[in-house]
Amino acid sequence: MRVVVDQDLCGTTGQCVLTLPGTFRQREPDGVAEVCVATVPQALHAAVRLAASQCPVAAIRVIESGAGDDERGSAPAPPQAEAERHAAKDQRNPGGHDGTV
Ligand code: SF4
Repeated sequence: MRVVVDQDLCGTTGQCVLTLPGTFRQREPDGVAEVCVATVPQALHAAVRLAASQCPVAAIRVIESGAGDDERGSAPAPPQAEAERHAAKDQRNPGGHDGTV
């Protein structure tokens, strides 16, 4: 299992960090959540799903592993997942302006 935070959506509540401080952290100085593990250990799968379901802005996305994936924690992000994330972001913001001033 992998988990990602949509940093454009994150509301910086810190709830996920309080729930799973070894999995999420808040970056300085803006408090946006980051994931600090490449893959989620099996023992934390339920807790990560719970954290994702409790994020008030649905910024946490869980990517379930396929059969045979290894979860030793060193696998890089699959390129397809990143491409999907960017495609979704482009659909939400086709003009390219992210709304920041
Ligand atoms: S719970 Fe959601 S909104 Fe709050 S810090 Fe985590 S990702 Fe951001």
